[in-house]
Amino acid sequence: MSVCENYQAIEEKVSEACKKAGRDREEVTLIAVSKTKPLSMIEELLPLGVRDFGENKVQELTGKEEILSQKDIPEPEVRWHMIGHLQRNKVKYLVDKVSMIHSVDSLRLAEEISREAGKKGVCVPVLIEVNVAEEESKFGVHMEKTEALIREIAKLPGIQVKGLMTIAPYVENPEENRQVFRNLRNLSVDIKGKSIDNVTMDVLSMGMTGDYQVAIEEGATHVRVGTGIFGERDYSLK
Ligand SMILES: *Cc1c(COP(=O)(O)O)cnc(C)c1O
Repeated sequence: MSVCENYQAIEEKVSEACKKAGRDREEVTLIAVSKTKPLSMIEELLPLGVRDFGENKVQELTGKEEILSQKDIPEPEVRWHMIGHLQRNKVKYLVDKVSMIHSVDSLRLAEEISREAGKKGVCVPVLIEVNVAEEESKFGVHMEKTEALIREIAKLPGIQVKGLMTIAPYVENPEENRQVFRNLRNLSVDIKGKSIDNVTMDVLSMGMTGDYQVAIEEGATHVRVGTGIFGERDYSLK
């Protein structure tokens, strides 16, 4: 199947999941995770109106952004989502290129984003990455520390907390992650209820190729699908 056919198949399943959950299709953004994949594959999707792309490396995101920004692409503009672990020394290359950073998990990183955003005169929407399942191998802040971190970040200029993100464990059966998604949703509702200034909590970025339908049923507003759209990634080429 072509990239477009794959995308359309996923799109149909996203619509189905929305319907099943009694949600409007417009409530969910399908992010095409294009990491390791060539620009030509991204360009295949543009005629379908796809504009949300996810990358996990700063250099790859900014490289693709630079090339695409020079091309004549019909409105709306391409939106780049930084979904991978972000090092502070690379923030400066990213802040004015990215539509949202999904992976903020420390005050020091947020401070750097705030500082670089100030220099460029932009305001950066961010999500707090939460390690819901408390997997040792994963980045992200633990659930019980999330509110305190958000309260600190909320004081910084040039950065706005829009919600939460999680990377659920790899599982065979997506149902096994339902509770992870539910826990993130509950945390989000809880924090939203605190009405913290400069914090909106309207975004829930959760669900990948293996489990995005369950994530949508549990309230995801952004799902991040790579393999399902672009095929398996081959890291041996890098
Ligand atoms: C690679 C990646 C994805 C996409 O994963 P697939 O299983 O290929 O859909 C989603 N989120 C993050 C943070 C990723 O790094």
